[in-house]
Amino acid sequence: MKLMLNRFAIVIAIILVVTGCSNQKNNTPKNIIIFIGDGMGYNHVNITSYFQHGELGKQVYDSFPVKLGMSTFMIGGEIYNPDSVWANFNFVKKKPTDSAASGTAIATGSKTNKAKLSVDTLNNKLNTILDIAENFGKSTGVVSTVPFSNATPAAFVAHNESRYNYKEIAKEMIIESKVDVIMGGGNPLFNPDGTPIKSTNERFVGEKEAYDMNVGDNSSTKFEEKIFNYVGGREVWNLLNDGSVGADADNDGVNDPWQLIQDRSLFQKYAKGETPKRVIGVFKSGQSTQVERNDSLENEMPFSAPLNEEIPTLAEMTLAAINILNNNSNGFVIMAEGGAIDWVAHNNLLNRTIEEQIDFNKAIEAACNWVETNSSWNETLIIVTADHETGYLVGPGSNVKVNDSDVDLWKPIGNNGKGKLPSVEWFSKDHTNSLVPFYAKGTGSSKFLDVIKGNDDVRGNYIDNSDIGNVIKLLLK
Ligand SMILES: [Zn+2]
Repeated sequence: MKLMLNRFAIVIAIILVVTGCSNQKNNTPKNIIIFIGDGMGYNHVNITSYFQHGELGKQVYDSFPVKLGMSTFMIGGEIYNPDSVWANFNFVKKKPTDSAASGTAIATGSKTNKAKLSVDTLNNKLNTILDIAENFGKSTGVVSTVPFSNATPAAFVAHNESRYNYKEIAKEMIIESKVDVIMGGGNPLFNPDGTPIKSTNERFVGEKEAYDMNVGDNSSTKFEEKIFNYVGGREVWNLLNDGSVGADADNDGVNDPWQLIQDRSLFQKYAKGETPKRVIGVFKSGQSTQVERNDSLENEMPFSAPLNEEIPTLAEMTLAAINILNNNSNGFVIMAEGGAIDWVAHNNLLNRTIEEQIDFNKAIEAACNWVETNSSWNETLIIVTADHETGYLVGPGSNVKVNDSDVDLWKPIGNNGKGKLPSVEWFSKDHTNSLVPFYAKGTGSSKFLDVIKGNDDVRGNYIDNSDIGNVIKLLLK
């Protein structure tokens, strides 16, 4: 009997080795790291390159082997059509997508309507690539510079007919999901500028209406309870503090409660060495990492207002998340979001857009270094892209017709050299359906060249946001 068992084990071992080999031939990545710059169009990258380097082409992802455009339109929106886009300046402003619809397309491979999170247009649940990765025994996580229950991270974990149901969304992420790492803002003990709430009145003066609008919660629930919505309500927050909430994340029949961290030093500590099994990091801001810190004056230079040192950078959070997820020898899938690029672009704030884009760029550099030090491009895939463009950011003097002709409606960004603000003009306070950049490097990255949807006169070959979900599903199999 013992001998038979041994033979059985050998046969299994051979099957595993053979499958392993064929997986490598099929470019199956062990680890997948997806970076989403929320609202990051081509020119958000360009203005930041001019500011950081005085020239284009110096970002770590500029040297990735796969560089394409990507369409982001939603169901019920205006389908991307290169001919219309470059013939009519305002075409991309028609019915733009949002982070929920685009996040759903990226996370599931299926497009949906505005505001829906990983459900189809009839509100049927769609499996996300994180759901699927969990079924293959991988670890999964989401990281963001804005509240973790906001649309982009939520689209990878939760399933809800409205992105504004923050309390339900956060509850699904914390209580029901099997993800292993969640990191983001929305801390109920801190104001949006990162100062601790001393008394309830201090925070609530003048904030209630804006908050109700933001979170879509006009219920009669007391405002001091609503500020817990981002983290699933006061009860869930208390359970997180007690370390007594969390589903069975690894299918061993035992619950895996979350360890809650809030101090920047712990985010930094967990970037190396031993870590808890399952971590939820809620940094010390009621909203984003840095964009609400003191007043944003339009003529301020980037970083002229000191950063809040109590809050981790996206690079620090991403490295901690990767180190925690890397405890699993089956590998991991993680989405890390520069979530506030979109927020400042909505306000057409050039200085803060550059700050947020630099924070995002540094996180990608850190992840590339991690791959080269702790993994390899033969086992890890990195994708860098956006869910949509925000602000219709172009060069100054755009959309001025010369002799009734449509040529040269789009003027280039003015490069004023390293450390100088570039010259720009914003044409929207909302999102656009412009193509966004897509970069990929590592095993499996060439698969995106097989799904090209069309050729754009200005941006070249482009894929669609739903191709990310669909290609990753194939790569995971
Ligand atoms: Zn937005």
